[in-house]
Amino acid sequence: MLKNLRMEIVEVGPRDGLQNEAAIVPTADKAELIRRAIGYGARRIEVTSFVNPRKVPQLADAEELVAMLPERDDVTYIGLVLNRRGAERALATGQIGELGAVCVTSDTFGMRNQGQTSAESLAAAMEIVALASEAGRGGQITIATAFGCPFEGEVALARVIEMAKRAADANPREIALADTIGVGVPAQVSEMVGRVREAVGGLPVRVHFHNTRGSGLANVWAAVGEGAATVDASLGGLGGCPFAPGAAGNVATEDVVYMLERGGVATGFDLPETVEAADWLGRAMDRTLPAMVSRAPAFPPSLS
Ligand code: ZN
Repeated sequence: MLKNLRMEIVEVGPRDGLQNEAAIVPTADKAELIRRAIGYGARRIEVTSFVNPRKVPQLADAEELVAMLPERDDVTYIGLVLNRRGAERALATGQIGELGAVCVTSDTFGMRNQGQTSAESLAAAMEIVALASEAGRGGQITIATAFGCPFEGEVALARVIEMAKRAADANPREIALADTIGVGVPAQVSEMVGRVREAVGGLPVRVHFHNTRGSGLANVWAAVGEGAATVDASLGGLGGCPFAPGAAGNVATEDVVYMLERGGVATGFDLPETVEAADWLGRAMDRTLPAMVSRAPAFPPSLS
């Protein structure tokens, strides 16, 4: 029995998607992607990250991009940040309405991904949420490598629950569970989402899946069943993480919209417009993107 008949989708293609592309995408194309995302229904969009441009050159144009975004009262632009310096950069822009902070479950991944131990990353994430709140903006915390670490292997559920509880003390707008390397399976997702929801009281839980081993969509469905409020998705299935070996893209926005809407879960996204945007993105990236729905015939078929 579904616990949710509505699921919010955060479009993360402009950040998580483009960060893992070898090509540096022109800033104007990024702005166009975001404009199209608003067109197909996205109301929370992870637009960029404010991190060291030498480490992530694909997103070195953060301030320039953000200045180009349409001003919309009904759209929240999210900027990913890893530390105080990043938070200050993001808050200095008028357009970023929400800071996304990331903590990690393992010390090895943390040191390689962001130069922080697990404990340091959690403390930094809590500080980022506090800075966002002081500035009158939103703040949320993602627990990365919640379903497994590329270096340390299995992550104990108790550890994720403990981190979620501590993260909730910072009073973020939500806690996210991220399968950074795409190792999670539906049974694990059901258990983790259910247990974390209990642990964080009324805070909404968001989920973030990479489709590295083909379990991405099944994981989304398992998360819906346990009452996750929000899911991240990337147009065309772009995405990955340059610091996680063998990482593949996020679950594709159009695939998630198709699955949820046909399953009776409203997303507010328009599927034909999402597919049209994915077609445009494939042309802009000059390659076939991994999403499946945008490469399949429309269903139900048009009678005209
Ligand atoms: Zn990711």
